[in-house]
Amino acid sequence: METNKKGKVYLIGAGPGDVGLLTLKAAELLKTAHVVVFDRLVGQDILKLINNNALLIDVGKTAGNHPVPQHRINEVLVEQASQGKIVARLKGGDCFVFGRGGEEAERLVQAGIPFEIVPGITSAIAVPAYAGIPVTHRDLATSFHVITGHEREGKDGGIDFEPLAKLNGTLVFLMGVGNLQHIVQSLMAHGKSPQTPVAMIERGTTYAQRSISGDLQSIVQIATEANIQSPAIIVVGEVVTLKDRLSWREKLPLWGKRIVVTRARMQASDMVQRLAQLGAQV
Ligand code: SAH
Repeated sequence: METNKKGKVYLIGAGPGDVGLLTLKAAELLKTAHVVVFDRLVGQDILKLINNNALLIDVGKTAGNHPVPQHRINEVLVEQASQGKIVARLKGGDCFVFGRGGEEAERLVQAGIPFEIVPGITSAIAVPAYAGIPVTHRDLATSFHVITGHEREGKDGGIDFEPLAKLNGTLVFLMGVGNLQHIVQSLMAHGKSPQTPVAMIERGTTYAQRSISGDLQSIVQIATEANIQSPAIIVVGEVVTLKDRLSWREKLPLWGKRIVVTRARMQASDMVQRLAQLGAQV
């Protein structure tokens, strides 16, 4: 890719973790970008696709700890693009779903820097799917709602649980692990049945994927016993009852196995592919 005077920023969603869920457009841009600015949730296998000449800038945020503040990230994008560079801004999932992509795009507009948005597969849909949970189903849920679990009720701009508790659609909470107890108690306090099915999926679509299920009443204890950690998704609603039947990934014959192939690289790829299809981390 040519360096033009202005440079350009691509706000790219990297998907939920599985490298196969990266878009072709994103993969192409990683081959050519001069600078890649990436977050913590971007999978290692995806970072391997970045060309060797690119400058890598890690602005990864850990829960409750923001090593690089958002205003600084915005400035990094402006600074790099102003030097005429092609900048790939890589984020987990989709860049406009709790990804602050909107804020970054606003700053670029302000600075007069050209940009494009490359949507990614959001964890809100793909992570339940990898656990066998369709977010809608004709008989069980006619809508789904994606909610930040990070906010508490009552705080300015916090979650209003009253209308949420009345919805029959599937509720998908992101960033909710630390607030799990508050979320389930608030839903029950506003009238959701304690028997409403709930699932949690940790590190969905990666080789570390784990999932649990229960109901509003039991999930806190089940999650504590399983030591479910962030990043994880909380799914509330009747569609969770399909999980046992539709779960596919955690049922693959080699799921959970790590296999080292000792053949020469040229001969190994066929075998690597076949083992991966059976669920192994190769
Ligand atoms: N833009 C992202 C979401 C960013 S908010 C997207 O579209 O997916 C970060 C939250 O996303 C995490 O706290 C977690 O709730 C969820 N998340 C992202 N990737 C995940 C994964 N692989 N497994 C489980 N949850 C994930």
